[in-house]
Amino acid sequence: MSDALMPTYARADLAFERGEGPYLYTADGRRFLDFAAGIAVNALGHSHPHLVAALQEQAGKLWHVSNLYTIPEGQRLAGRLAANSFADRVFFSNSGAEAIEGALKVARRYHYAAGHPEKTRVISCSGAFHGRTLTALSAAANPKYLDGFGPASEGFDNVPFGNMNELRNAITEETAAILVEPIQGEGGIRAADLEYLRALRAVCDEYGLLLILDEIQCGMGRSGKLFAHQWAGIEPDVMALAKGLGSGFPVGAILATEKAAAAMQPGTHGSTFGGNPLAMAVANAVLDVMLGEGFLEQVEATGRLLRERLTELAARHPKVLKGVRGAGLMLGLECVVPNTELIAKLRDEGLLTVGAAENVIRLLPPLIIEERHVDEAVQAIERACATWAKAA
Ligand SMILES: *Cc1c(COP(=O)(O)O)cnc(C)c1O
Repeated sequence: MSDALMPTYARADLAFERGEGPYLYTADGRRFLDFAAGIAVNALGHSHPHLVAALQEQAGKLWHVSNLYTIPEGQRLAGRLAANSFADRVFFSNSGAEAIEGALKVARRYHYAAGHPEKTRVISCSGAFHGRTLTALSAAANPKYLDGFGPASEGFDNVPFGNMNELRNAITEETAAILVEPIQGEGGIRAADLEYLRALRAVCDEYGLLLILDEIQCGMGRSGKLFAHQWAGIEPDVMALAKGLGSGFPVGAILATEKAAAAMQPGTHGSTFGGNPLAMAVANAVLDVMLGEGFLEQVEATGRLLRERLTELAARHPKVLKGVRGAGLMLGLECVVPNTELIAKLRDEGLLTVGAAENVIRLLPPLIIEERHVDEAVQAIERACATWAKAA
């Protein structure tokens, strides 16, 4: 292992050499079914031919020019994202945390330009995760991640996720926006009630606040719709994307309505790398696939199948699993046994998964999986549960 790396991760002693579709292969030829997908990043799996072709073609032409010039692929991607969402304006970043930071800047600038420079505070929710920059950590207000990194950035009021009364009580003259994940990922695959999302939209309208949705993990098809908030039939004012947007190429985005973004004029925000031709070529190729006929319907159907099978499996192993939650192909296995230990057992069975809060195991497979991959995953989980029962 390379010990010069800063040891900020508890890494598994497992390295991969190549990937194909939903599978990863080690140099010595072991095969793993990848239901981690780089933490909901490899939305189209590994080595997707259309993405490889797009990247290779662009790599031979132009990588980077800076945002001092027009980037036609970026204009095209922004237009396509806008055409398929609530948004009118798009800004490209390199990561999720940067998209969140930018979204917060949009909200503050909006009220500033409207003659309300006092409206700077943002209400966020317990259990949230918005990234690892100081401000994104401050927004999520998880003491575990902020420990030793204070002082936190000012301007956040954290309320219990899902509780409308407490949220309403937190609104003051200084409130600018509400920031929420429609489905919390790191927090343990906690889906907001659709009624809660509708109530958030209504309270934002009532008080003139901006609704900022963090769809970095639950967006880009993962829930079975292109964006998770679409299940509630609402529209945000601002939304942050990243993870699945580049399906493995680092790219994030802030999407906003014309009204919310009107004050983001030249000089107000920027990024050296954001939206470069390589990232734009790959993200456009990702959209080609995701917007294709029947793609999202397939995600929804496969997600329903996986959920049914997992629910039956959990019922057969009540000493190991409690149940299943989530939406689409963003599912959480509620564990009775410690999730980290079961994740290691699943890895021994050739299935890669991700932990989350509340003792949950996240299943975040590539969105291209088929019924046979569902079968394979369920069999691996079944074997791990059976081994557990025997050992106990
Ligand atoms: C991963 C994630 C982020 C942070 O994204 P980075 O690219 O790691 O900065 C923010 N919000 C949510 C909901 C995430 O899942």
